[in-house]
Amino acid sequence: MQNFLKFRFIPGTPMEKAAYAVVRRLQEAGHKAFFVGGAVRDLLLGRTPDDIDVTTSALPDRISALFDKAIPLGASFGIITVIMDEIPVEVATFRAERGYSDGRHPDHVEYTDQEELDVTRRDFTVNGLLLNPVAGMVYDYVGGLSDLKRGYLRAIGDPLVRFSEDQLRILRFVRFTASLGFEPDEATASAAKHFADRIDSVAKERVKNELEKILTGADPECGMRLLDQLDIMREVLPGIFALHGKEQPAKYHPEGDAFEHTMLLLRHAFWRTPQVMWSALLHDIGKGVTQSWKDGVPHFYGHEAVGAAMAEDVMRDLRASRELMDCVSTTVRNHMRFSHVDEMKPAKWKRIIREPNFPVELEIHRLDCMACHGLMENYLLMLDRMIQLEREPVPVAPFLTGQDLIGQGIVPGPVFKVILGEAEDLQLEGIFRNREDALNWLSVRKMTILKMKQHFRV
Ligand code: ATP
Ligand code: MG
Repeated sequence: MQNFLKFRFIPGTPMEKAAYAVVRRLQEAGHKAFFVGGAVRDLLLGRTPDDIDVTTSALPDRISALFDKAIPLGASFGIITVIMDEIPVEVATFRAERGYSDGRHPDHVEYTDQEELDVTRRDFTVNGLLLNPVAGMVYDYVGGLSDLKRGYLRAIGDPLVRFSEDQLRILRFVRFTASLGFEPDEATASAAKHFADRIDSVAKERVKNELEKILTGADPECGMRLLDQLDIMREVLPGIFALHGKEQPAKYHPEGDAFEHTMLLLRHAFWRTPQVMWSALLHDIGKGVTQSWKDGVPHFYGHEAVGAAMAEDVMRDLRASRELMDCVSTTVRNHMRFSHVDEMKPAKWKRIIREPNFPVELEIHRLDCMACHGLMENYLLMLDRMIQLEREPVPVAPFLTGQDLIGQGIVPGPVFKVILGEAEDLQLEGIFRNREDALNWLSVRKMTILKMKQHFRV
């Protein structure tokens, strides 16, 4: 059954103008052409689409012939990237897909000149709308308009069949539900649950991509809770699933177990970068394996170090970049050190603030506090210190180097690190005003070393 809606479209962004021009040229050449999928959904929701997919009855060769710059993108799938006013627009020939014996790729792709066949192969009703931007009309063959209106995420066709064809759709279901703030359709949700244990057929890169979109999207807490309710969490993030029932000391954690605490970090997250969000999700993963009890109180000794290794494994398994993996595991390893910042020597906190990973770590500390006792003293203290440090002159290179030590007759060895570390601390604390102060100190420091001849050959 076809439904339609008048929708006046005035291209605004360069992307919208380029996609509009592509559709108009295809239509002028006698072909059917529409915007399709996420772009139509976003436009109807009053949002600016990131990219616009065009779908047409024109066959790939015809598309290539109609545009000066047309790059086939995997010709077998009939997708052509048209460069219009220097902006790439993906144009795909209407197609129907048949059979998904591997749960990932269709066995056959058939071109068709019927747009209703093209939309019925798509995943969710709100992703199956067509917009003719020239005529200002939206066409709906899948019930997407009414679902969009009431904020409802539902598979096109039989959800059991659709998820059995392609299990990536299960993660997309969670992602769109959370990021659009929609209500999940019950039958679609129960079909997703039914196939949860088949998620391992999805390539790890894609799992990571979807999880990251959930985490950095509008409502990461809702997304992670839905993954959990649909039994997907224990498949894709077993270390987070294991936080269920890990009771924490009630004095510091009125919110409940380690799983609840983790969900609250996601709720409070404001700077939703991949670095912050993966770190927030994984910061207490070590609590799943380190719980011990003393006098009726749970402890998690060493959970940050154990958790850092676990977080690294999770990120590696999901094929994250080295950079992201290192950032997340460093943040997990360091997340407890903020509880002692008030007792730290200036040299130590200055060094911490100047570490490249500090902004992520400070944000995780803020979220960690917000998600339990709510005491923000240490966070505010570090903010004050950051501001104080910004007013200080940009750090100069260390006053002393290994060459100075050699110059004083000290033989290179482990003692170098100790002396240079001490000198750097004194420099950061402002006790050395210049290199001369540092050299004077070194000549005295050398004497103490000479007295320790049994350790250092000088
Ligand atoms: P966004 O780009 O905001 O993530 P989108 O809906 O545009 O959302 P894309 O991944 O860009 O999502 O896909 C474009 C369209 O292709 C979708 O709207 C949907 O119609 C269709 N689609 C994408 N992936 C699948 C899939 N695995 N199964 C069925 N249809 C899909
Ligand atoms: Mg898209």
